[in-house]
Amino acid sequence: VRFSREKGWHDAQITARAPIPMDPATAVLHYAQEIFEGMKAYRLADGGAALFRADANARRFAQSAERMAMPPVPEALFLDSVRKLVAIDRDWIPHGEGGALYLRPFMFASEVFLGVRPSNEYLFIVIASPVGAYFKGGAKAISLGVSRHYTRAAPGGTGAAKCGGNYASSLIAQAEAVRQGCDQVVFLDAAEHRWVEELGGMNTFFVFDDGSISTPPLEGTILPGITRESIIKLAHDEGLTVREERYSIDQWRADATSGRLTEAFACGTAAVVTSIGVVQDEGQSFTIGSGGPGQLTEKLRARLVDIQRGLAPDPHNWVERLF
Ligand code: PMP
Repeated sequence: VRFSREKGWHDAQITARAPIPMDPATAVLHYAQEIFEGMKAYRLADGGAALFRADANARRFAQSAERMAMPPVPEALFLDSVRKLVAIDRDWIPHGEGGALYLRPFMFASEVFLGVRPSNEYLFIVIASPVGAYFKGGAKAISLGVSRHYTRAAPGGTGAAKCGGNYASSLIAQAEAVRQGCDQVVFLDAAEHRWVEELGGMNTFFVFDDGSISTPPLEGTILPGITRESIIKLAHDEGLTVREERYSIDQWRADATSGRLTEAFACGTAAVVTSIGVVQDEGQSFTIGSGGPGQLTEKLRARLVDIQRGLAPDPHNWVERLF
């Protein structure tokens, strides 16, 4: 779908996937005015298919657009585009646990103009691709490397928006974590280099020995994850106390060492919910619990996956059956 300041949203098309010819002076290639979403169409246990909280993706997309000085894609247009694509690609939604059709709605500045100002023209596109389980071989715990040098988002920056530039700037930190033998990078805040924020593509949670859980608050520098919000609701359903509060890397190490912290996990659309086993920080590492998958983590993961696959009741009306 195209946008121009004169015509608004127009020229919606569904076509076979093909390259997009672009002038070298297209605005996005220079100033990265681009946002995206990541969501999935899930195969239901009965063979049907469903979207999970697609309205939340549409709202976050609109918020990202606002931050990046882009026009909002109306929620109905966003949802309709996604639904139509899934209907056409329905046979590509894999069967079996962990399989889904990954959906990537995105929008970029398509005006051919090199001045630094918001573009007058945009393209909104949705592409799809089948994906298997994120981690092969079932649940395992991941290892994290703390990024002490690079931060992901400054106060007043774009951390809460899902814009391509956030990921461009986090690649080097992720590569550094991998070079140190870790699976993922974990970022600290940019102001004090102290408060745990998130991974490159997942939010973080901490589980304590009193049965409570906590997660970093949404203060504008982390992405408001839809899985994060779902986990908070499911934890409340389980009668757990959930705190949205800052948690420092030093406290994390101390609590893991004393046993006050029993589990930690990361969550997001791609990997759903994954235990964090080991954290490496400034050449030293600490282990959380047994270093393997946590009990409460696995319970929350199962609760969420069962709702997504239509195997459990859906008390929050999160699942939209498509067929
Ligand atoms: N943080 C970042 C930086 C991400 O890219 C993602 C993935 N969208 C998340 C958190 C998790 O968000 P969600 O649960 O909506 O997938």
